[in-house]
Amino acid sequence: MATVSEHPEKAAAYIADRSRSRWHDGALWFVRSKRDRMAHSLPEWERLRSTASQIKAHTIANLPEILQQFEANAKARGVHVHWAADAQEHNEIVLEIVRKQNATRVVKSKSMLTEECHLNPHLEANGIEVIDTDLGERIVQMRGERPSHIVLPAIHIKKEEVGETFAKYLGTEPGASDPQYLTEAARQHLRSKFLEAEVGITGVNFAIAETGGFVVCTNEGNADLGASLPRVHIACMGIEKLIPRLVDLSVFVRLLARSATGQPITTYTSHFHGPRPGCELHIVLVDNGRSRIRDSDEFRSALGCIRCGACMNTCPVFRRSGGHSYDAVVPGPIGSVLSPAADTKQHRSLPYACSLCGSCTDVCPVKIPLHHQLLTWRQQIASQGLLPVSKTAAMRAGSMLFQHPRIYALAGALGRRALRWLPKSWIYNRANPWGLDRDLPEPPVESFRSWWQTNRQGTSVDEGMKSKGAKNGK
Ligand code: SF4
Repeated sequence: MATVSEHPEKAAAYIADRSRSRWHDGALWFVRSKRDRMAHSLPEWERLRSTASQIKAHTIANLPEILQQFEANAKARGVHVHWAADAQEHNEIVLEIVRKQNATRVVKSKSMLTEECHLNPHLEANGIEVIDTDLGERIVQMRGERPSHIVLPAIHIKKEEVGETFAKYLGTEPGASDPQYLTEAARQHLRSKFLEAEVGITGVNFAIAETGGFVVCTNEGNADLGASLPRVHIACMGIEKLIPRLVDLSVFVRLLARSATGQPITTYTSHFHGPRPGCELHIVLVDNGRSRIRDSDEFRSALGCIRCGACMNTCPVFRRSGGHSYDAVVPGPIGSVLSPAADTKQHRSLPYACSLCGSCTDVCPVKIPLHHQLLTWRQQIASQGLLPVSKTAAMRAGSMLFQHPRIYALAGALGRRALRWLPKSWIYNRANPWGLDRDLPEPPVESFRSWWQTNRQGTSVDEGMKSKGAKNGK
């Protein structure tokens, strides 16, 4: 059974390194700012978002029919189509295809689905070498880490640390951290892996039901090499990656790169429509809990996610606490919606890794109401009794306070006095992490309630509000 993962503890460990946390915050804010400039440069941006949202809602509502249409058209193009109910089935299907080729060397471009299914360890346990070919993913693979971001998998690693990793695994100059030099070393290393590989695995950004084809977007061209050099190409996709028509693709391609990295388009937008002559193309369609999310009125629209990462780049919690603090394949706001759907108890803390500021919802190119869904998760987690005692006790105390005006007034009066009279060390210490970076404002001498009563000549707040409303003609 998976252990319960607590975001606050992991976030605290990351934030303890103040300069790294600030650097990470700044790096992601830079990407978010580029996204804003790109979005503002398109007058039709909001119309594109609405159209994308409607296309995804239509696709998810009609998913069985659209999937069947895709399967029929893909097969007509000579593609082998496989269906996997869960991660284990997906991994076994991929392994069987690889084994049929007597292959032992696989190159893989970025695919969050294969991360979700833990494909690499499965293949490696069966004697297959898997090389991630996206530069960021290769860096984290060498370091034995998982990606910390769905678009920028190594965003948590500084160039000096990349230099150390490459010196250890690729034999580059110790201490070298020039990005140009390191990228060239990675290029040479990966080129030989591409040439040796017998099977190439890619993800899928969009699969088009009307044509039976699919599209993979990268900035490095690694998916193209991985799909073109080996004789066998396996494309792994979640069933939600479909769009109905080819004409719909333009909407998503315009939104994806602008939202993800602030580019007008990804450097490579590669279309695959059937195998090359003498080669094989396989598509593995994976459910792995997606049908369950589709059945849920509250979270269905989360299946529209196009994995652009914009919600992560804008999230004040993600930027400061880092992707690994979520302990989930997909971190950030969308991960905090999807992960509890897979295992509510294990990921119970994620919907609380959120200030409910709504910035994620504002930037989402497919208009997923992320912060509303996070709030709904909080309600469901509380009603399932999954909250830790510390949180439920605090909630109960707060609820009791707000239900009893006299106790609330007394607590306020005591609090104001305590803040004025107690030594600072009693207020700002390890028991009050909120106060590590912030000072409370000077407490007022009297509460708003007592000010009101004085200035309203003894009338109660309720009466005062009523008389105020009457004066306003309400
Ligand atoms: S939820 Fe929206 S903003 Fe976040 S990754 Fe998905 S599409 Fe992008």
